[in-house]
Amino acid sequence: MLKGTRLLVLMLVLCGLVMIGVVVLQNDSDTPQSVRAQDNTPIPTDETPEEPPYFDGERALEFAAMQVEFGPRPVGSEALTQTGDAIIEALETTGWEVVTQEFPYDANGQTYPVRNIIAKRGTGPITMLASHYDTRMIADNDPDPLLQGDPVLGANDAASSAAVLLEMAEMVNDHYEITENNQIWLVFFDAEDNGRIPGWDWILGSRYMATHLDQLGVTPEDFNLMILFDMVGEADTDREYIGFNMETQKVGQQFYYENNSLNNAPEQTETLWQIAAELGYEDHFIPQPRYTITDDHLPFIQQGIPAVDFIDFDYPYWHTTSDTLDKLSATSLDRVGSVVEIYLLQTGVLQVEAQ
Ligand SMILES: [Zn+2]
Repeated sequence: MLKGTRLLVLMLVLCGLVMIGVVVLQNDSDTPQSVRAQDNTPIPTDETPEEPPYFDGERALEFAAMQVEFGPRPVGSEALTQTGDAIIEALETTGWEVVTQEFPYDANGQTYPVRNIIAKRGTGPITMLASHYDTRMIADNDPDPLLQGDPVLGANDAASSAAVLLEMAEMVNDHYEITENNQIWLVFFDAEDNGRIPGWDWILGSRYMATHLDQLGVTPEDFNLMILFDMVGEADTDREYIGFNMETQKVGQQFYYENNSLNNAPEQTETLWQIAAELGYEDHFIPQPRYTITDDHLPFIQQGIPAVDFIDFDYPYWHTTSDTLDKLSATSLDRVGSVVEIYLLQTGVLQVEAQ
């Protein structure tokens, strides 16, 4: 009898343990799903690779589509506010601390709100990855004169580069931790793209940030490096066109050394292009100088911060109404994202998260 009771108690205890185990297991498998269901971030379409690079070009393309769906996104527009809000939501969902830097800009008797978005992770010297997220007010390069006053949809300029940052945010959250004494900032500049328009200029958002770093509690000495992305997602084709320096150029992704970057951060620039070659992208990352560009990195270079600009300036749809989503590819986004991911890994800013 006693033996039987003991056995019964033991069986009941075991059953209880098994049931607790089932509940725990259910909770475990439920958590990621419910978190995933709550956020609005696109679900990766590819299988996760077993080793780096983990950067997901397909998911980056979805982030570009998300921005383009808001329509043209010029400074001060409702569409840009909505885009900025969506960017902030995506960043916060993946555990980044987000701050904004807002200021008014007066042009032609009107005041426009300008908003830079800064996402932070880690502590210590800052590696800044940056892009603008506004689009140009007018398509003044459009071959059709009747369309030159229309706004630009800006799939490549600048949804592609902002999308790379958003995928970086996800990728870091999914696979990496930032090493001790390192910090990553993902910076989305407003008001980049209105040069040669009366009352306006280029790179207004980045110029403001570079000269108001104190508002963000930092000085130029706190920055290790800035990596800027601009027009980074152009799909490859077999067609050719005459590029802006009048040379025949294939329509497709091509990054040459940008001269301000090469002068100011030569080692970092060369290392990044070497990584691209090691990944087999030497046809798309050509280690030769081609253009000198006034871009969002320039105000930071002027503050003494080394900066590298990935800009594919040979883009036939630049500032036209044809800068649409069909001109981008996941493969192109994947290349540039992977190069920077491996750089951050090799320079010890990132380490693969212990499982
Ligand atoms: Zn532009």
